[in-house]
Amino acid sequence: MLSYEYVKTGNLQEVFKLLESREHVYPLAGGTDLIVGMRGGKFAPELILDLKDIEELKELREDKKGITIGALVTLNEICLFKPVLDNIPILSEGCHSVGSYMIRNRATIAGNICNASPAADTSAPLYCLDAVVNIIGSDGTRSVRVDEFFTGPGKNALKKGELVQSITVLKPYPEGRGIYFKASRTGSVDLATVGVAVQSWGERVKVAIGAVAPTPVRALSVENAVNEYGEKDWSKAAALVNNDISPITDLRASREYRYHIVEVLVRRGLEKTMGV
Ligand SMILES: Cc1cc2nc3c(=O)[nH]c(=O)nc-3n(C[C@H](O)[C@H](O)[C@H](O)COP(=O)(O)OP(=O)(O)OC[C@H]3O[C@@H](n4cnc5c(N)ncnc54)[C@H](O)[C@@H]3O)c2cc1C
Repeated sequence: MLSYEYVKTGNLQEVFKLLESREHVYPLAGGTDLIVGMRGGKFAPELILDLKDIEELKELREDKKGITIGALVTLNEICLFKPVLDNIPILSEGCHSVGSYMIRNRATIAGNICNASPAADTSAPLYCLDAVVNIIGSDGTRSVRVDEFFTGPGKNALKKGELVQSITVLKPYPEGRGIYFKASRTGSVDLATVGVAVQSWGERVKVAIGAVAPTPVRALSVENAVNEYGEKDWSKAAALVNNDISPITDLRASREYRYHIVEVLVRRGLEKTMGV
């Protein structure tokens, strides 16, 4: 049986002290990764630090900088937030594809990226939007781009004593369409076999893919062909995605299938966002 201490406090300064107090301290947001991971033996916390009383992590707002989503905001709240639906619906699609309604009622976007699964469904949309992760610790705040935040499978850019405070999608918002495709083994609750996000910005495009490398990746070969060389044959552009990914075979799919389905979904994404 697991034995650990549990603390819930609304005082951020106390949180910083507690984060440094032991080696294995785990912040708890929705718990949909943490508790499952503890049961499966992936995490063995000495201390669980419940963040849910910390007001500083609850903001969800749009201002002149863009949209800021606090670390405790749930995926369902993001799906329904009008500025997200109006300006960056690709993020709403990514959030909506996570688990079930009940999971999304607890799960947070910060938990999704802190868990740092290469298959995290919010990651590819956040990569396409060049989202910024705002980090807070006893020394103050710092911000990193989301693609710098993911550093390996299950690894992120947080240092000891730090928390994700929020995620910001900066203005200007994309001037085009965005779409998120999730391929999974079942039509209901399952992790992504691959996740493909495509976002057009006028004549330009951004493409990001999950579950095909140790971290989510941008499909820079595809982007380059379209944005720099004016490629309009979406099949040709999509075929270049093989240069950007290095999928493995696992229980969800073979490497070969992942190469195939990613190319198909990138082509469909280009057709839908850039026009056939
Ligand atoms: C049945 C089920 C289905 C699922 N389906 C999907 C799916 O389809 N797609 C998908 O991507 N995921 C899925 N998940 C995984 C999970 O729901 C998401 O990753 C979720 O967004 C995690 O958020 P959370 O708030 O529950 O995180 P938690 O479990 O609370 O935390 C996750 C990790 O992040 C750390 N953490 C949390 N908040 C912070 C913070 N502010 N600062 C620093 N560290 C922090 C925790 O210590 C822990 O290590 C599923 C899980 C379950 C149980």
